[in-house]
Amino acid sequence: MARQKVALVGIGKIALDQHVPALAASPDWELAATVSRHGRVDSVPAYETLGAMLAAHPEIGMVSLCLPPVPRFDYAAEALRAGRHVMLEKPPGATLAEVHHLQSLAAGQGLTLFATWHSRMAHAVAPAKAWLADKTITRATITWREDVRKWHPGQDWVFEPGGMGVFDPGINALSILTEILPAPVHLLGAELEFPANRQTPIAARLRFTDNVAADFDWRQEGPQTWDIVVETPSGTLALRMGGNVLEIDGNVAGGEHTIMGEYPALYAHMATLVRQRISDVDLAPMIHVADALTLGRRIPAAPFEF
Ligand code: NAP
Repeated sequence: MARQKVALVGIGKIALDQHVPALAASPDWELAATVSRHGRVDSVPAYETLGAMLAAHPEIGMVSLCLPPVPRFDYAAEALRAGRHVMLEKPPGATLAEVHHLQSLAAGQGLTLFATWHSRMAHAVAPAKAWLADKTITRATITWREDVRKWHPGQDWVFEPGGMGVFDPGINALSILTEILPAPVHLLGAELEFPANRQTPIAARLRFTDNVAADFDWRQEGPQTWDIVVETPSGTLALRMGGNVLEIDGNVAGGEHTIMGEYPALYAHMATLVRQRISDVDLAPMIHVADALTLGRRIPAAPFEF
């Protein structure tokens, strides 16, 4: 079957690191245009505005948005109003209300909206969910500590309102947690460390019901930590490497030491959603972040510069 045409919007770090290679290898999608003020992809028609691209390419049925969350809503709404299916990078928006708005726009137009959570496509997430399905959770601990200078070099938007700060990576952990736990939890309290010169937290510690806790920190140099450990009366499950490696009671039980499968899996899922004319928008991870920003106790931290 012919590949369907997609336009990629916001040609920056994640577009070039993951979306472009995933599309180049995709059996379902062909990258047919880009929209970006500065970014370009070799040999692909480039536009500086979404309106110009939509007008020039009525044959492009899907728009994949790789912008930061704050500018994303206007682009998503414009693409949906123009009758195109839309795929959203995580987090799906700057606010919950704007994503609800996009959901109703997509539903009204009979279009697919896919709010992606790339970490849910990590190799060991599905086996972890299956292993936990019939277990009682006695404790779960997330440790998500990485170096913001390495993963977001110079990206000041992460520290602006709506950029979410350390929740930008932390929401990846929450997307896995909300996928694998057999029953939902909700937030009880949070401590948020705000650098004196920034608008969003650089570290956060969250407490949930059912003995679930999370420790997010963006100041970790050297080895990076993306672990989720879930204790049950039948044994302890650990997800390492951002959900890509599964351990049961300390022994490797599945997964792979690579993240390169996540974006191909997202585009394969989008193809299925479009074929079935359905949407996939799960806001559970973002609700936890909104709750943490609502309930969180503010702790001052040292000023931060890239
Ligand atoms: P980025 O490189 O800073 O931004 C992507 C592109 O968006 C920029 O190159 C810019 O392109 C465009 N853009 C930025 N601000 C804009 C604005 N106000 N209005 C219009 N366009 C704007 O960010 P990124 O790291 O790729 O992250 C983008 C999204 O992907 C975020 O939601 C992030 O959470 C998610 N993500 C990032 C990573 C990662 O490792 N960085 C991993 C997974 C997911 P032009 O200047 O050319 O228009």
